[in-house]
Amino acid sequence: MLEEIIQLDKKYYMNTFGDRLPVCFEKGEGLKLIDDKGNTYYDFLGGIAVNALGHGHKDFIAALKNQLDKVIHTSSLYYIENQAKLAQKLAESTCAEKVFFANSGAEANEGAFKLARKYFYKQGVEKYEIITLDKSFHGRTLATVAATGQEKYQKPYRPLTPGFKQVEPNNFEAVENAVTDKTAAIMIELIQGESGVHPMDKEYVQKLRKLCDEKDIILIFDEVQTGMGRTGHLFAHQMYGIEPDIFTSAKALGGGIPIGAVCAGKKVADTFEPGDHGTTFGGNPFATAAGLAVFDIYEKEHLVENAAKMGEYFEEKLNALKDKYADKITDVRCAGLLIGIQIKDDIAKAVFNKLFESGILTSLCGGNTIRIAPPLIIKENDVDLFVNELENVLKEI
Ligand SMILES: *Cc1c(COP(=O)(O)O)cnc(C)c1O
Repeated sequence: MLEEIIQLDKKYYMNTFGDRLPVCFEKGEGLKLIDDKGNTYYDFLGGIAVNALGHGHKDFIAALKNQLDKVIHTSSLYYIENQAKLAQKLAESTCAEKVFFANSGAEANEGAFKLARKYFYKQGVEKYEIITLDKSFHGRTLATVAATGQEKYQKPYRPLTPGFKQVEPNNFEAVENAVTDKTAAIMIELIQGESGVHPMDKEYVQKLRKLCDEKDIILIFDEVQTGMGRTGHLFAHQMYGIEPDIFTSAKALGGGIPIGAVCAGKKVADTFEPGDHGTTFGGNPFATAAGLAVFDIYEKEHLVENAAKMGEYFEEKLNALKDKYADKITDVRCAGLLIGIQIKDDIAKAVFNKLFESGILTSLCGGNTIRIAPPLIIKENDVDLFVNELENVLKEI
C-alpha cells in the first residue's frame, strides 16, 4: 500500500528527494504506467529521458532474460563480447573511435574529464582547467557538481573540486575570455535539459569548435540526455553537424538498465593507457546486452526517425496551443522529443500538478517549464492525448 511505502521511505530512505509525488508504480506497458491501485498514468517523462523503448517492451525484456540465463557479470579482467559489440555500435554510428563504459551519466562525465586531463598530462603540458556553462547539469559526484553551473547544487559541498569554471551559455565572448593557457577542455550540453530545455545556437557551437581547434582544447558534449535518438538524431551533435572530441551518453543507452559511455573521437581515442581508468560494473555483460538490445530495437522499429517525426508533430500541436493560450504558455522549445513548455511563472506549478492529477507524468524544471521526454515509441494519438489534457488543464486554470 502506498501509505506504508511512504512511511518506510520517510523512515529509512535518505531524504534527498523530499516529498515525492504520491504514487508508486507496479507495472508498465508502452507509455502506460499502472499504480498499486490500478490507476493508469501516461509517462511523458520517460523516467527522465531513460525509457526510450517505453515500459515492458517485449523484445527488450526477452533480450534481458536471455542474457540473465547466460551470465550477468564477469569483471573487466576478461574479454566481454557484448561490451566489444556495443562499443562497435556506438563508434560505427558516430564520430567516436573508441568507447569506455561507466554506470551513469555523472560517471561518464568524470571519465571525460579524466580523459581530457590525461591527454595533456601525457604530453607534459600543464593544462587542467575545464570550462562549463551556467545553468548546466552534469551530475552529482563532486567533480560533476563542480562542473554544474547551478549554485544550489554546489553550495553545501565547498570546497569544490578545483579547475572548473562556468560562463554564460550562448555567449562566445564569455568563453573566449575565460580561456587561459591552462584550459584543457570546454564541456557543454547542446540542449540544456535540467534547466528547462535551452538549446545552444549553432553558430555559437561552431565558434566553440573553431576556438578549441585553434587553442588545442578538447571539446566535450554532454549528451547524457540529448543522446540516443532523443532529438530525432542518434546524437544531438549530428543535428548540429559539429563533431566533438569527446561525448558522453547514458540515460536511454540501457533502456533503464544503468550504463554510461565515454565516447572519444580521433584526438583522444588512444589517450588512456592500462591502469589510467577502470570500473567494476561498467559495461558488464548484462548492461551491455541491454545497450545492444536498445540499438537493435531502434533499428527494427526506426525509433530515431519516429522521434524526429513525432517531435515535429508535437511541436506543431504545441505551437497551436501556445497561440490559443498565449496568456498562459510563454514559450515552446522542441528538439525532437526533448520538449520544454514554458508556462507563465505564477501558474506553472499548478499546471504541472493538474497534469499529474489527470494521470500525465511530466517534470517541472527551471521553475516554470514543463519538460517532457517521452518514450521514442510514441504515436500520434499519444501526442493528441497529451495536448488535449494540457488544453483541459489550461482551460481550468
Ligand atoms: C541526467 C544527466 C546527467 C547525470 O546522469 P546520472 O546518470 O544521473 O549520473 C549528466 N548530464 C546530463 C546532461 C544529464 O541530463
